[in-house]
Amino acid sequence: MTAPVRSFDHEFAPTRIVFGPGRLAEVGDEVARLGTSRAMVIMSGHAPGGDTVTAALGDRAALTWHEIAQHVPVDIAARATAAARDARVDVIVSLGGGSATGLAKAVALELEVPIVAVPTTYAGSELTPVYGMTGGQRKRTGSDERVRPRVVLYDPELTVGLPAAVTGPSTFNAMAHCFAALWAPAGNPLIAALAADAVRTLWTALPVVAENPTDLDARAGLQYGAFLAGTALGSSGTGLQHRISHALGGRLGLVHADTHSVVLPYVVALNAPAVPDMVSRVRPYLGDDPGRALWELAARIGLPHDLETLGATDEALDGVAADVADTPNPVPATRETIRALLDRAYRGREWQ
Ligand code: NAD
Repeated sequence: MTAPVRSFDHEFAPTRIVFGPGRLAEVGDEVARLGTSRAMVIMSGHAPGGDTVTAALGDRAALTWHEIAQHVPVDIAARATAAARDARVDVIVSLGGGSATGLAKAVALELEVPIVAVPTTYAGSELTPVYGMTGGQRKRTGSDERVRPRVVLYDPELTVGLPAAVTGPSTFNAMAHCFAALWAPAGNPLIAALAADAVRTLWTALPVVAENPTDLDARAGLQYGAFLAGTALGSSGTGLQHRISHALGGRLGLVHADTHSVVLPYVVALNAPAVPDMVSRVRPYLGDDPGRALWELAARIGLPHDLETLGATDEALDGVAADVADTPNPVPATRETIRALLDRAYRGREWQ
């Protein structure tokens, strides 16, 4: 039995979704559909599908931008925005993971042009109005509907070459969106159903991809799960798990997705006693102890499972705990509670 349905609000996002193997070739049609003709293409130099995007856009490609870095450094955002302004772009096509999408959002925030996002990881940024930029040691985030991509094109063929070191953590990043939605104050029954199905899809597909990274059906499963998870994220927002990941990324420069794979089991274990509806929704796949199940999956497919290995230092975790303390959470996130959680994640041996 799931919890009784209570009153709720829900808004459908105005994003067009195009999903399917081989559909990257339609990116030029999507740009034309928006009535735009001068595209800035943001993609890393070795992004899969770069040639297809260039061919599909033809004369509509006004500028190609390759300088991308995790957590969107403010100086890169400023340079990209200036170049886009000079090239008089009227649309941005981003091809890549959350870092490429994030840079597209930073430029769109200034130029107020639409984004066609082509995600190649499972990060989910393509379905949110949330942007982030990093300067100094802090990550600044904000929310603005002008940066929510107008079109998201998912082509699972782009993900078959995603390295194992990115695939697993990025899938945990997507799962983190689902768990956050399952206990978020802004959650609702529609999003809870979608988030639970996303957990099922991601949980089922990840071990298959870990075994055979080029299995296109399983890759499509992961990307479909990431789409559901991103939808949950775009509707319910983030919570404690993301605040911790952003603090670890902003303060210590840790890789975003890696922090999710290490921290998620601990946050789920912390909250499980307070959110029985979450536990009952994921029980068919993860069993009675979802935190432990996540930790065991991460261990089984060889993901890093402690913050020390990721490069965190014990002393720096005091600052992370201070940044994150008092985030709204089913179990009160006091500074002491978070510091103890980070300590367990730092050592990473909880369920050994
Ligand atoms: P990323 O974009 O940095 O990609 C990770 C690595 O994988 C990079 O080296 C990239 O070049 C490579 N890569 C990407 N796709 C590939 C492919 N198909 N084949 C081979 N290599 C590929 O990392 P990410 O985890 O996708 O995104 C993380 C960033 O996104 C963080 O800055 C995070 O804060 C942000 N994010 C933002 C939101 C939001 O709503 N604003 C949501 C989730 C994540």
